[in-house]
Amino acid sequence: MEHPESPKAYLPYSQVLKQKFGHKVYKVTMDAGFTCPNRDGSKGVGGCTFCDETGSSSRAQNKKDPITLQLQKNIEIMRKRFKAEKFVAYFQSYTNTYSRIERLKRLYDEAMTAHPDIIGLSISTRPDCVDEDKLALIASYKRSEGYLCLEYGMQTIHDRTLNLINRCETHADFLKAFDMTRALEIPMCVHVILGLPGESHADMMATAEVLSSLKPEGVKIHLLCAMKHTPLEQMYYRNEWQPLTQEAYVGLVCDFIEHLDPAIAIHRITGNGHREGLVAPRWLMKKHEVLNQVDREFLKRGTRQGDALRQLV
Ligand code: SF4
Repeated sequence: MEHPESPKAYLPYSQVLKQKFGHKVYKVTMDAGFTCPNRDGSKGVGGCTFCDETGSSSRAQNKKDPITLQLQKNIEIMRKRFKAEKFVAYFQSYTNTYSRIERLKRLYDEAMTAHPDIIGLSISTRPDCVDEDKLALIASYKRSEGYLCLEYGMQTIHDRTLNLINRCETHADFLKAFDMTRALEIPMCVHVILGLPGESHADMMATAEVLSSLKPEGVKIHLLCAMKHTPLEQMYYRNEWQPLTQEAYVGLVCDFIEHLDPAIAIHRITGNGHREGLVAPRWLMKKHEVLNQVDREFLKRGTRQGDALRQLV
């Protein structure tokens, strides 16, 4: 789909949704009770060093409630807060393809029918937790008037960093999943983290350039942050890791977006951590301020998404 030039210096995902659906569409999160192979010992133990007990969710959910009830409660909250009209059921916590296919189908079906204003699914997972059968199941939820997105936690293209954060998977795992998903024409959003330990500015820009060549439909940009009860929190208190400053992050996000193909929608440029669990950096809670600073930085530079790629050609 062609996108008219954004009033922002980058293509915000909200614009893509508005263009497709003609009204505001919001994601409603739930916790469907999945775990993760990087926690239960099948790939690793302890999880990624930044992942807390919510499984990298943006908010704590009551996973004891059936997902229909979780979705209905969250829809009413979003409707009041944002005057939202239509909703996407978002399987966000932990690894939402890590189960038998029969259970996946039951949960995805339940989410699709939990509320009449749900128009589709967003499913977040690890690249090493999909196969052809699971992807075919996910592809079956594709509707011309609906919404479907598979969100992959790639984080970085550098295997040495993936080792450092105890990811227990490789960039080759991501590329394999990406190719299988693209073959079924399932829209994708790829998550990346800026400020990972040991990564230079050039390393992060290399990640952006690889994404530009792959051209997923969307990208979510996170800042590495320490949540309570995580190995990263311990590293922070032992002074073995320090988060980026607000100014450094704003500059880095702009650099990253300049290296991203302009057709890739930006779903998010601030962190995802839920307020109660965030240890550092606390400035991450000032989301609107960070968004405004990014807009101002682009204005000051006079650049837009993809400008650094044009210079490379
Ligand atoms: S793969 Fe995802 S859910 Fe699993 S430990 Fe890492 S961040 Fe947490």
